[in-house]
Amino acid sequence: MWFALKALSTAGYGPVLDACASCGAATGPGVPVSFDPGAGGVVCAACGERGVPVMQGTVGMMKFLQDADVGGLRSVRADGKMLREARALLGDHVAYHCGRAPKSSSVIDSLS
Ligand SMILES: [Zn+2]
Repeated sequence: MWFALKALSTAGYGPVLDACASCGAATGPGVPVSFDPGAGGVVCAACGERGVPVMQGTVGMMKFLQDADVGGLRSVRADGKMLREARALLGDHVAYHCGRAPKSSSVIDSLS
């Protein structure tokens, strides 16, 4: 997930995780958000008609991974629910921007 987020960001397709990708409104703890790959990442409640609700912890973990260098990976804390949610969101984001799911995603899923 760390590599995918870094690769997407380098290519200019990294998901927006720290503000509404549609209107730019601030997001953060206590602000419900959804994830909409078409908008480019998390969206606020006002813009989230097409998005799927996402846990704040998942968004925070993904943002941490997006910003962290490899040494920071040791401090990542996530439960299974967050990891499953993040993996699904990231898969949807990649599939949306690539036009289809990469063949490698099923290989990566089989390793975890
Ligand atoms: Zn918004």
